[in-house]
Amino acid sequence: MLVKTQPEEFQDYLTDASNMPGGNVEKIFLPESAKEVSEILAEASALGKAVTISGARTGTVGGAIPFGGYVISLERLNKIKSISKDTMSAVVEPGVILADLQKAVEAEGLFYPPDPTEWSCQIGGTVATNASGARSFKYGATRDFVEGMTVALADGDVLKLRRGELFANGDGVIELKTESGQKITAKVPTYQRPNVRKNVSGYFNGQPLDVIDLFIGSEGTLGVVTEVELKLLPKPKGFFSGIVFFADEKDLMAFVEEAKYVSFANRAALITDLRSEILNFRSEAEDKLNASLIEYFDANALKFISEKFPETPGNMAGAIFFEQETTEETEDVLFEAWNELLEKHNADIDGSWFTTTEQDREKMRAFRHALPVSVNERVVRNKRRKIGTDMAVPDENFPAFLKYYKDILNASGMEYVIFGHIGDCHLHANIMPRDEDEAVKAGHIYGRCIAQAIMLGGCVSAEHGIGKLKSKYLYVMMGERYINEMAELKRAFDPKGILGRENILGPRFTV
Ligand SMILES: Cc1cc2nc3c(=O)[nH]c(=O)nc-3n(C[C@H](O)[C@H](O)[C@H](O)COP(=O)(O)OP(=O)(O)OC[C@H]3O[C@@H](n4cnc5c(N)ncnc54)[C@H](O)[C@@H]3O)c2cc1C
Repeated sequence: MLVKTQPEEFQDYLTDASNMPGGNVEKIFLPESAKEVSEILAEASALGKAVTISGARTGTVGGAIPFGGYVISLERLNKIKSISKDTMSAVVEPGVILADLQKAVEAEGLFYPPDPTEWSCQIGGTVATNASGARSFKYGATRDFVEGMTVALADGDVLKLRRGELFANGDGVIELKTESGQKITAKVPTYQRPNVRKNVSGYFNGQPLDVIDLFIGSEGTLGVVTEVELKLLPKPKGFFSGIVFFADEKDLMAFVEEAKYVSFANRAALITDLRSEILNFRSEAEDKLNASLIEYFDANALKFISEKFPETPGNMAGAIFFEQETTEETEDVLFEAWNELLEKHNADIDGSWFTTTEQDREKMRAFRHALPVSVNERVVRNKRRKIGTDMAVPDENFPAFLKYYKDILNASGMEYVIFGHIGDCHLHANIMPRDEDEAVKAGHIYGRCIAQAIMLGGCVSAEHGIGKLKSKYLYVMMGERYINEMAELKRAFDPKGILGRENILGPRFTV
């Protein structure tokens, strides 16, 4: 096992995509087996050393940034152990890069839907953050694809979990036995989950709670994921994709509303039809509109993208990127169905882009990716950190929340873009302060947007997680009682409080 002990070797491991400053570390371990992970943890636990788990450090909330102690980097635990068409599943080590897994499963005619835009992340990191992204609109988040997991606990003991095997009891108590026979009893936090489509704000406590779900999204605070079994789907035959532009925001919102609800209705019908497929009925719903993703760009976002894609039409209120799986038989019908809906809502069809080819689809994905890249370039030029929001609100409050965002940001005079997962009522606002005064102002605006999201029944983080940067906002959402309940749960798995210090709970509640 490689161990890095020289400060000049540390630099890459001291920050992540958040650019949060101040990272520091004593030693960095690069284990090559799950056994070595356990050995490092046993040593750290005996010495009371803090341990930060490092994936690919593409996280945006400082979760992988160490503030002292040891780092365990999983980059060398990177084997795809198996991909099976029979069981439609893959078994992987945590350091496997998402893009590599996606390529490998596609070569087998299979499909792994979770797609958090940044394909250089590690599977372990996506499990630890329950990463989602555009396709979650149809397929759900990483959680929906995790079937099994091996976890090394803070003292090096090992826990093997399979979906459907171990649940909290009716009183919310988890009782489990580790591989060495150690018994752990933990109480599940009692907060009510907000009624939003995506939420990674604090430990998962859905009911009945499958214990595997507690570890998904636990941001390196409960254990090190050392192996994962993932569910796979058949690879879609083709895709119909569109980037469509709207001159009027009201038309865009009405289009999204209808595209969403028609998709939900047809999906429900498809499930019913699949049952009848056994009786050899053809599924009508397969021919109908059923988006796998619906993504939004506001007018400012389009201006940013046009730096890299000058063909982007000017003077538009916004754009939508949508996609739907197709077969040769459904392609024409779907083109008509989408066209009809777009015409009804006054999209600029002539100026919009549509494709069924893989090459043009890649271009559309590049268009989507150009936005965070251009924003990051601007932030570097301004020499200030951006503020990136990640709240989601219930469907019925989404239009009011978007209006609030735009009103407060326009009034501020600051540079901003709004974009993201409109199908899930989850948008990111990126505010780009130009100087220190604006940086302070941006912080205040962010706080007000957080308060508004909570007031509207939303959550502070829908997909990026809480990490270290957002623990104070989680406190606002949850309050002292529920943060204490989470801290108590963490203590059951990590009594010395060495793992992922300050992640989720913040400094006050960590040990
Ligand atoms: C441009 C860009 C776009 C993005 N878009 C999205 C998006 O659309 N949707 C979305 O969900 N996310 C998005 N993300 C962030 C996303 O969270 C990360 O890309 C990814 O999930 C983290 O994986 P990683 O390997 O980089 O983990 P890291 O950043 O290294 O770590 C993230 C957290 O997981 C913990 N961790 C890592 N590995 C393990 C392990 N094996 N066991 C236990 N804990 C572990 C770390 O301690 C840390 O707390 C985006 C990021 C960027 C830079």
